[in-house]
Parts: sequence; C-alpha cells; structure tokens
Amino acid sequence: MSTNRTFTMIKPDAVANGHIGAIINDITAAGFKIIALKYTKLTDETAGKFYEIHKARPFYADLVSFMSSGPIVAAILEKDNAVEDFRTLIGATNPADAAEGTIRQKYAKSIDANAVHGSDSDENAAIEGDFFFTAAERF
Ligand code: ATP
Ligand code: MG
Repeated sequence: MSTNRTFTMIKPDAVANGHIGAIINDITAAGFKIIALKYTKLTDETAGKFYEIHKARPFYADLVSFMSSGPIVAAILEKDNAVEDFRTLIGATNPADAAEGTIRQKYAKSIDANAVHGSDSDENAAIEGDFFFTAAERF
C-alpha cells in the first residue's frame, strides 16, 4: 500500500545540528503518522544506490559523500496525499528558496546540506521505503 505513504530521511547535517526531535515534532504536528523509523548510517555504496537516479548530475559525487558522512534518520510516513503534502512541509530543495515555516527554511543551511529528503512520487516512496525497511519493521 504505497498510496498515502511517503519516505523521508533526516540528513546528516540536521542530525549533527541537533534537529532530530524538532523535525520529528514538525512532521507529526503536520498530521503524518510514523509507520517505520530507524537511526542508521549510509555507506558510500548504499548512498550511491539510493541516489542512483541522480548519477548523471554534476552534484552526484558530493551528494553521495555528504549523505554517507554521518548518521541519518529514515522513516515511512502516512497521511492523505502524503507525497505532495510532505514536499510542501519540507519546502524547496534550496533552503534560500524555501517558504517561511518549512522544515528546510528552519533547519537547512545550503542546497547540498538541506536537512531532509522527501520522496517525489508514490512509486519512489514505495521503492525508498523498501530500501530501508522490512515488512516486520512497519507498524
Ligand atoms: P531530496 O531528493 O533529497 O528530497 P529534492 O527532491 O528536493 O531533494 P533532488 O532534485 O531530488 O531534490 O536532488 C537531490 C539532492 O541533491 C537535493 O536534496 C540536494 O541536496 C542535492 N542537489 C540537488 N540539486 C543540486 C544542485 N544544483 N547543487 C548541489 N546539490 C544539489
Ligand atoms: Mg528528490
């Protein structure tokens, strides 16, 4: 059941800056239910696989090394219209363009260290959730 679910990561910058609790609070206050949650760390290899879709982009190598530079929090979230509503909650990719009150506007410092990931489609939400979580880890 991928519809109405999305996948997120709290990225290494937001973890290192002490924002895990505040970001989870913003997410649940916005009406998202936590289906799965994990504190873990990507390797160069797993980060490369996760962002494989961006392999041809000039920032790919930096993105992979940043995403494996420290621990992250991964989660599957559920809400009506989850993918689109979560992208609205996190704001634009570049925090300089992110709307007031969005997670990236509040907690991110740059386009490459932008605090959170949010799936861009129902299909990718399902793929990304499967990347981190077994069926037994979902509640
Ligand atoms: P995410 O997939 O992490 O939620 P996004 O969907 O807003 O972010 P994407 O286009 O999927 O943005 O890019 C993935 C990530 O690659 C971005 O979050 C950002 O950290 C990095 N990125 C994107 N564009 C650039 C860029 N022009 N320069 C540097 N890094 C970039
Ligand atoms: Mg994306």
